[in-house]
Amino acid sequence: MNRQDFPILSREVYGRPLIYLDNAATTQKPRCVVEAISEEYYNVNANVHRGVHYLSQQATELHEGARETVRRFINAPDTAEIIFTRGTTESLNLVATSYGEAFLHEGDEVLISEMEHHSNIVPWQLLRERKGIVIKVIPMTDDGTLDLQAYERLFTSRTRLVCCCHVSNVLGTVNPVKEMAAIAHAHGAHFLVDAAQSVPHQAVDVQNLGCDFLVFSGHKVYGPTGIGVLWGRKELLDAMPPYQGGGEMIARVTWEKTTYERLPFKFEAGTPDYVGSHALAVALDYVSAIGMDAIQRHEADLTAYALQKMREIEGMRIYGHPAMPQPQAATVQNHAATPPSQAAMIGGPHPTTAPSLPTGPISFNVGTIHPLDLGTLLDRLGIAIRTGHHCAQPLMARCGVEGMARISFGLYNTREDIDAFISALQRVIKMF
Ligand code: PMP
Repeated sequence: MNRQDFPILSREVYGRPLIYLDNAATTQKPRCVVEAISEEYYNVNANVHRGVHYLSQQATELHEGARETVRRFINAPDTAEIIFTRGTTESLNLVATSYGEAFLHEGDEVLISEMEHHSNIVPWQLLRERKGIVIKVIPMTDDGTLDLQAYERLFTSRTRLVCCCHVSNVLGTVNPVKEMAAIAHAHGAHFLVDAAQSVPHQAVDVQNLGCDFLVFSGHKVYGPTGIGVLWGRKELLDAMPPYQGGGEMIARVTWEKTTYERLPFKFEAGTPDYVGSHALAVALDYVSAIGMDAIQRHEADLTAYALQKMREIEGMRIYGHPAMPQPQAATVQNHAATPPSQAAMIGGPHPTTAPSLPTGPISFNVGTIHPLDLGTLLDRLGIAIRTGHHCAQPLMARCGVEGMARISFGLYNTREDIDAFISALQRVIKMF
């Protein structure tokens, strides 16, 4: 799909055509995004919001236009609720620090799922050190889905906030965040969605999800690095103190007292990445023109195809799968041959036909081969995959492994990419 728009995909590595299957880490950039960056630096560059001159006004229009594009993309009610950050990690740190300051006191509870990325764990631990909050973990069942009954049981009168990824960057599990947000609200708690792994692969609508905060990174959705988004409900953002101080975020500064700008500027201290915001908007327009539903269908097809091929490989353990009917139980036989360790229970069938069209990453191990060896040897064959703990060490511990190999798709991947990966994988396995 639109592969020709991505110049990097025609390059070779080690004399072989590049097969890029590390899209959960970052996506490649279409020509229009790269050109938007150089075009702005060549022709428009000026600092935003402060100049009366032509260039500054033009740059400001691009930057604020980008905010509107993001608002539309996630169907937020108001552009004032769109805060530009450096990425998911900074968005989460902003919420932990600022929401933590405004709303959390010693003994208050924050629920975090067992499958979170470190960036949705560590900021809350830092807050625990500062304020004595209590972190409770929403457990996962052995099939790699969240245990919703256990989730409900975690709520107490001290529960203030739930933080959960929409799609796991390891297991590919699509969490029922809409239902989870409704449960949180019924208990008087707020709900934050880490959408880093969903925004690039499916339509995401904050009003439909009914969440209170949603965060994502530009670089995972074909945009540039260094720009990301925090969306939050206006009444919450209004009640939260600034995250950083500096230019742009103030209304008036005196030695005695400083007052702050209105939203969203209150949270955007310093010169913003106005080139990045514009390039992100170009990326969002690019995927919107293709259609998020079309992208989701295409990637769901790739996911189903890859899972089917991977399951045919002896010793293959695939970690996690969404909790849905398993229409192809017969294809799971490989797993029966795997020793019944805790890891093997979590490694299981990934449904191939499911209503929510799973498109998330596929993490796996093969026999006793170290994932790093797998990744290194595949790389020599031109296949770029991710290996290691995927910034989710508590999840690795839950699965009983140190690391996993992972493939993840973007809109430009093809079934041929998967065939190339499978045959390279088979070659690597033969070496052991
Ligand atoms: N959350 C999830 C689910 C992720 O997959 C990632 C990136 N791997 C992050 C957070 C962190 O994103 P970033 O490094 O762009 O801030």
